[in-house]
Amino acid sequence: MKNKLLNINNSKNKIVKIALLGSTGSIGVQTLDVIKNSPNLIINYLTTNTRIDILENQLQYFTPKAVVITDENSYKTFKQITKFKGAILFGVDGLIEVVNDSENDLVITALVGFAGVIPTIEALKKGTNVALANKETLVSAGELVYNIAKKHNAGIIAIDSEHSAILQCLIGEEFDQIEKIILTASGGPFFGKSKEEFKNIKVKDALNHPNWSMGAKITIDSATMMNKGLEVIEAKWLFDIDYKKIDVLIHQQSIIHSLVQFNDGSVKAQLGLPDMRIPISYAINYPNHYNYDFPRLDLAKIGNLTFDYPDYDKFKCLKLAFDCLATGGLAPTILNASNEIAVNAFLNEQINFEQIPICIEETLNSIENKFDNDLETIIEIDKQSRKYTSKIISKL
Ligand code: NAD
Ligand code: MG
Repeated sequence: MKNKLLNINNSKNKIVKIALLGSTGSIGVQTLDVIKNSPNLIINYLTTNTRIDILENQLQYFTPKAVVITDENSYKTFKQITKFKGAILFGVDGLIEVVNDSENDLVITALVGFAGVIPTIEALKKGTNVALANKETLVSAGELVYNIAKKHNAGIIAIDSEHSAILQCLIGEEFDQIEKIILTASGGPFFGKSKEEFKNIKVKDALNHPNWSMGAKITIDSATMMNKGLEVIEAKWLFDIDYKKIDVLIHQQSIIHSLVQFNDGSVKAQLGLPDMRIPISYAINYPNHYNYDFPRLDLAKIGNLTFDYPDYDKFKCLKLAFDCLATGGLAPTILNASNEIAVNAFLNEQINFEQIPICIEETLNSIENKFDNDLETIIEIDKQSRKYTSKIISKL
């Protein structure tokens, strides 16, 4: 397999020193669960935004060189109450400092949103491999990140279960023999609801994902199916593939994590229980499958696996993501920024569920797209899009 972003080859049981960004979130906590059971994996750094209670608890089991807290009030409080004796760093500068430590073998980006862009770029510039959960980085800055990784000979390996599945299907295969990549999607909690019912969806309904327990933002993204749209964009950059060769298939049970179809019609799939510790451990130990006692898949017990076509009219966010790939340039940056603001507004009950794609579409139609790929332009477009979506929301 030739994948320019996959310059990673861990020899068996090699010591891997890790900076874990976003250690207190859903992926962060599950990553530490994997690391706890792996004597070869060492934590160099842990970071959080506001969850200093969880961080303090993690410091009873792990002894990083330093921790980073990005929220100012949380940073100040933590300094007063913690028993931790190592360095306590603050903000984006703190994140930049820890990813620049040449003693890191791997940076894991388990933080949420656009906040992942700068630390990921800094790690790659240092030539350090990145295990990427933070899909928003590749959505907002895909081409830039791809070019930086190639230039500095650094690898990016996905933690997302779909992309982990695709990677596993591609082992031993040639990229030019891929006919299409098929990303599976559970369809979220509203797969069977009619569009008319979308108006009455409450935050607590949207937070109730049928198969996965995840952070609030990605859970809402799964309910709108924006998550699948972001993953299509993520797949485009990770596997360096034309978006027209990427399909989405609804598979409600989340057992088949994705599929690859080859030029002769042969299809490979990767299966497993919906347990993120499996793709997390694979991303860290790639290409090894080590011994972990996560629950095992029993297909006879599951009985039936079902498949449906996605409804792009009902799940407008998914359509918008494909449209952004067709448009090109920084349209995905606008999509991501606007989505972050709209999801936040929905979580705060400022807008209703069906207004999420409306806000995003209006922002996409109004912000001038750019075809430059430098970080300054990306940050500027991200900022403008957030401001514009916030303005729309305040007028609703
Ligand atoms: P989460 O909300 O549970 O955790 C987010 C983490 O990021 C926390 O540690 C938080 O302190 C930190 N954080 C939040 N805002 C920050 C900021 N501005 N600066 C620095 N740190 C910040 O989220 P999650 O569900 O763990 O998701 C993390 C990422 O992984 C997302 O990009 C998500 O799309 C992706 N992902 C998650 C899952 C899942 O099962 N949870 C699966 C696939 C991909
Ligand atoms: Mg996923």
